[in-house]
Amino acid sequence: MPSKLGAPRGTQDFFPPQSARWIALESTIHALAGRFGYGEIRTPLFESTDLFVRGVGDTTDIVEKEMYTFTDRGDRSLTLRPEFTAPVVRAALEHNLFAQGPVRLYYLGPIFRYERPQKGRYRQSHQFGIECFGFAGPEADFEVISLAWNLITGYGIADAKLNLNSIGDDECRPRYREALLAHFGPHAASLSEDSRRRLDRNPLRLLDSKDPADAPFAETAPTFESVLCAACREHFEALKAYLSLAGIPFTVNSRIVRGLDYYNRTVFEITSEALGAQSTVLGGGRYDGLVRSLGGPDTPGVGFAMGMERFLMMIEALAPQAEPPRRGVQAIALGAQARAALVPVIAELRRALDVPTFADYQDRKLLAHLKLADRNGARYALIAGSEELAAGRLVLRDLQDRTDRHVPLGSGKDVAAAVVEATR
Ligand code: ATP
Ligand code: MG
Repeated sequence: MPSKLGAPRGTQDFFPPQSARWIALESTIHALAGRFGYGEIRTPLFESTDLFVRGVGDTTDIVEKEMYTFTDRGDRSLTLRPEFTAPVVRAALEHNLFAQGPVRLYYLGPIFRYERPQKGRYRQSHQFGIECFGFAGPEADFEVISLAWNLITGYGIADAKLNLNSIGDDECRPRYREALLAHFGPHAASLSEDSRRRLDRNPLRLLDSKDPADAPFAETAPTFESVLCAACREHFEALKAYLSLAGIPFTVNSRIVRGLDYYNRTVFEITSEALGAQSTVLGGGRYDGLVRSLGGPDTPGVGFAMGMERFLMMIEALAPQAEPPRRGVQAIALGAQARAALVPVIAELRRALDVPTFADYQDRKLLAHLKLADRNGARYALIAGSEELAAGRLVLRDLQDRTDRHVPLGSGKDVAAAVVEATR
């Protein structure tokens, strides 16, 4: 394959058998979100560029350097969705979903960011996330975090860590900003270029800088907990109490500020050592000002986004999947006549069985057919050879127990019924 026809840098193909792990994760997610009373929302893959500039914020990595932006034939500036929260709010406003009170939504799908590709970091990746709108109190923060924690513990992942912080509100954030300016300002010349540029506009971002130049100053920065106003402190304490009561372990980490501009009060991340450098699998928080800033009513919100590639890497590393059990039937015809007899049987099996029926239409030796059955992970082989046909029957071989039994060759329906009976 000429390399110029390869997948674009930073993108991946998923195909069997690995794609089955995606299907399994997606169905777990649909079921879990459903149990928490969340409904799925699907939004377009692209939106007007303006939505992300306003909704995500122009001092964020996403808007500063990661967006896939293009002009369409009608001269509109459009951007491939780099995250879901702004599109979800846009859609909820457009369809007036906030008019009837609280709204609980979840989403699942690809996002696009122009990043330097590496392990756990791609240009097209996939997120699952939830958004809970309409509750200002800590109960909603708790609900959102416990849904995330449920997903993690459901897979038996023991090394996941929940890091929690509060980044205050309009009352206490200005105080914290001042404290950070006073802390970082005198060292401006030693900071990374990004941090120097952000110092005035968004000094919080210096705390989660990954640049080693910033590390010594970020480590000694004052914590937000020390300047939280009374209302924010009460909210934070109540959330911590709910988590403790539910047995969800957490660490207060003053370096967690989240990259996006729209967060207030609660912010959190879940990390796993198993992921290496890209250790954050999930991040979220409260964003009470976002809906209004996008032109909607004053509606509080809290949510998270989880990277599905990183989540699958994590469960792969920590809970290695056992060899999947053999399932289904490999239909094997030896010769043209047998094939003609087997085709209607195959059609009937695919109606009657809820496990796969694998079929191969080439002339092959029995041994070659059985190899295919192994590759497909089939539990049974249904074998039609000339001797069997003459005797009016088929062989049903259990490839696990290595036992044979005969199934009478009647109509396709009769065979299907016999196979269902024999494989029960
Ligand atoms: P990072 O600090 O790793 O760049 P982020 O703060 O940009 O993460 P968010 O925007 O909060 O990430 O997205 C939530 C989750 O989505 C991340 O924790 C991660 O699991 C996943 N994610 C984000 N960007 C990528 C990417 N380029 N490739 C793979 N997963 C990603
Ligand atoms: Mg990022």
